[in-house]
Amino acid sequence: MSEHWEIYADWNPWHGCTKISPGCKYCYVYRQDEMYGSDISSSQCRKTANFDLPVKRRRDKSWKIGSGKVVFTCFTSDFLLKDADVWRPECWQMMRQRSDLWFFFFTKRIDRFMECLPDDWGDGYPNVMVGCTVENQAMADYRLPIFRSLPIKHKSIIVAPMLEAIDISPYLDATIDEVSAGGESGYDARPCHYEWILSLRQQCVAKEVAFRFHQTGARFVKDGRLYRVKRCHQLSQAHKANIDYKIGKYLVPETVKFEWKDSDYHE
Ligand code: SF4
Repeated sequence: MSEHWEIYADWNPWHGCTKISPGCKYCYVYRQDEMYGSDISSSQCRKTANFDLPVKRRRDKSWKIGSGKVVFTCFTSDFLLKDADVWRPECWQMMRQRSDLWFFFFTKRIDRFMECLPDDWGDGYPNVMVGCTVENQAMADYRLPIFRSLPIKHKSIIVAPMLEAIDISPYLDATIDEVSAGGESGYDARPCHYEWILSLRQQCVAKEVAFRFHQTGARFVKDGRLYRVKRCHQLSQAHKANIDYKIGKYLVPETVKFEWKDSDYHE
């Protein structure tokens, strides 16, 4: 899948986050800050130098993020974090201005969604996909009914880090563009069982919702045996399982009609 990275861009308008549920225990933001020896606490949210990246231009006036890219948004925090309420309106504006990009953020704070919206959101910006993250059954049963009721044009359910077998079938319908599942990474990672992943896939197939197994995590249990998977292999090993369903070109769900220009992405 590495050949597809050129269609993606990262935009982290702020950095740092507070832990909110069991999935946050070994949060990668905290792990990365520790690895790089940051002096500032990971729980302290601060605006980054790249805050306005989507509207930044090069000297020749072209956009720094070229047209047509999928922009992973706010992956070193949570886009709906309360600490960022004062900055978010400007981000919505940038998303609206760059309707030629496709923004994707995910959140563990979906219960804050309605209070975080811009006035012109309507039933959703067409170029924004929102992912609701759930890590166990309790979080699925709390967050997914809320998620289901929200006006969002493109919805994704992120089951990660998957900490136990989860039944999300009551919350699956045609409004969900995809379900993406994965295990936990990091030294202390809690194990993810392949049978949980397969069960989730089965739930998606039954409702004809796209499914993607995006990473194994660092401890992966298959056929009763625990495997330690190095970080560099966690994505590729999941991909090799070859169990994705209704996932189209560039790992985008088939239901999402985004205009890809192949000429932009291949040498
Ligand atoms: S919500 Fe996400 S970014 Fe924030 S602490 Fe939890 S895992 Fe980390």
